This record gives sequence, structure tokens and C-alpha cells, in this order.
Amino acid sequence: MKRVVVTGSGGQIGSELVPHLRRLYGAEKVLATDLRPVSGPLAEGGPFACLDVRDGEAFSALVRHFRADTVLHLAGLLSARGEKDVALAWDVNVNGSATALEVARQEGTAFFFPSSIAAFGPSTPKKETPQETLQRPTTIYGVGKVALELLCDYYHLKFGVDTRGLRFPGLISHETQPGGGTTDYAVHIYYEAVRKGNYTSFIAPGTFMDMMYMADALDAVVGLMEADPARLVHRNAFNISAMSVDPEAIASAIGKVIPGFTIAYDVDPLRQAIAESWPDSLDCSAARKEWDFAPRYDLETMTREMLDRIASKGG
Ligand code: NAD
Repeated sequence: MKRVVVTGSGGQIGSELVPHLRRLYGAEKVLATDLRPVSGPLAEGGPFACLDVRDGEAFSALVRHFRADTVLHLAGLLSARGEKDVALAWDVNVNGSATALEVARQEGTAFFFPSSIAAFGPSTPKKETPQETLQRPTTIYGVGKVALELLCDYYHLKFGVDTRGLRFPGLISHETQPGGGTTDYAVHIYYEAVRKGNYTSFIAPGTFMDMMYMADALDAVVGLMEADPARLVHRNAFNISAMSVDPEAIASAIGKVIPGFTIAYDVDPLRQAIAESWPDSLDCSAARKEWDFAPRYDLETMTREMLDRIASKGG
């Protein structure tokens, strides 16, 4: 990567990925874009432009003008939000992403697509979910992710576009709040632990999902995009995860740092049903083998850092 355009950069991932890339490649080499103007470090730390990813002409012109060699396509609507506005989720997640891929083809750039554990469904093997397996998701978000995983493979095979991608698990971070996903509880719980010493979870105890600390997710994006293409057998939709946890496991890790922390439950049927349709734990061996994926944070180290950082910002 030398000159990078990032879409949807004001969200949970982009707001940390853009500063990370600017530190690695130089501030002027990373163009952050989003639907609406953003404030703070993202706008002040380097170039920013407004872009609706469904506008192919504006998108192409931006990529050409910036002389980008890579498009990291983060714009999208998350799982729970998608269920509440199916037409918009399809339009942004599928039409918008297909437009982004076509821009990459026309402008000759590499292309990164973030898929998700949501690309799996109830018939997928739940434990050690293989890299290649049954994918019959039951959310519009998941349906769109499978479509784009396949389209990214197709654009590589048919047109030679350098497409690469990850299936992110739930990402845990302390910079920007998540935008309406099913794993959001695993972020909220840390804020409430610092602010109130207790948390009411919308996901039931015993519901295991894959998670990862944001620092490891940022390293994974760079690691994959910089990987030797000769080693990549899969290219798109690599399973990655750092831990498989349920709300009780996170609460117990928090309790070791904040004695007396308590968790209660008020389960949201929509997000609980989505969570139950997803895997418990992923097999990440393809990512390890093909581009040396190796997350640094486990539940304990992530928990300590999350609580420290949130407390130092005053909750
Ligand atoms: P987010 O909801 O926090 O941010 C998404 C951004 O996309 C927002 O800033 C929004 O303004 C922007 N956006 C929405 N519609 C747009 C449009 N038409 N044109 C341009 N921008 C638009 O999401 P995130 O958590 O940062 O996720 C980024 C990507 O990673 C998404 O594709 C998501 O599905 C995927 N992902 C995220 C997670 C996670 O835990 N955060 C897990 C798996 C996959």
C-alpha cells in the first residue's frame, strides 16, 4: 500500500484504522472519506473528502485524483441496524460495495473488503467453523457479506483485481462506539464497568461469539494487504479471531480488575436471535498459514487495556 482511500472512515474501525495507516505510510498518503464531514483527528490529521459509496462517478474521480493504489472499503450498515432497514442495508452493503469493487477494477487499485462472522448461519458448524463451509446466513447483513465475498473472488478470477478480505469477529475498542451491531455489548460493558460498576447485557449468558481487540484488527488489515500474493490461496474472507467469549467470561475478566463488578440480563430478542445464528468459534488456520496472522491480545490483556484507557478518559 502506498496511497490509500478509506471509505466509511468515520466509523468504529475507520476512526482507528486511518490514524494507524497515516502513522505507517504518511498522513498525506491516506484519504479518509465518509458520507458526512467528520471532526477531530480524522479530519485534522490528513486529507478528508465526503463520499457516498453508491456514487460510482464521484468515487472513481476521487480515487483517480488521489492516485490511490488501494481502496479499503469500510462503508456499510451493521447487522442489527440492517434488520431495521433492509432496503437501505442492501443498497449500501451490496450495491455500494459492488460499486466500490468496480471502481477498484476501473482505476487499477487493490481492494480490501471486511466480511464478518455474520456471513455464517444456523446450519454452519458452530465450533471451529472452517474457512470453507456452509454459508446460509439469516440476516440481510449476512446475505450481503456472502454476496460480496463471492464477488471479490470473482473480480480477482475474472479481472485480476487484487482483492483481499477478512471475516472480522466482533471488534472491541475504546475510541469510537460501534454502529449498531450484535457484538456491541462487548464494548458497552467496559464503559458501564468504569462508569457504574455494573452492566445489563442484551445478549444472554452462554452465548459465545468470536471477538478481537481493535489493535489486532488494524494489524490484520495491514498484514493481509502487505502479504506476499504468492502465498495467498484464499485471498478473500479469511476467518480471524482472538477469543471466543460470552458475557459471563467478559464480566469475570472485568471483575478481576474492578472487584464487585456485576452483570445482569435484559435480553433483546432481535440481537439474541442474530447471535445464536452465528458461530461460537472460528478456525483461523488459513490466515495463520498464508499471511502469519497472530493476534497479540487475549481476554485478560484486552480487558486491562480497555478499562485503563476508558478510565483515563474519565469514562
Ligand atoms: P460503523 O457503522 O461504525 O461505520 C460505518 C461507516 O460507514 C459510518 O461512518 C457511516 O457514516 C459510513 N457509511 C454508511 N453508509 C455510507 C455510504 N452510503 N457511503 C459512505 N459511507 C457510508 O462500522 P464499522 O464497525 O467501522 O465497520 C466497518 C466495516 O467492517 C463494515 O463493512 C462492517 O460490516 C465490517 N465489520 C465490522 C465489525 C465490527 O465489529 N465493528 C465486525 C465485522 C465486520
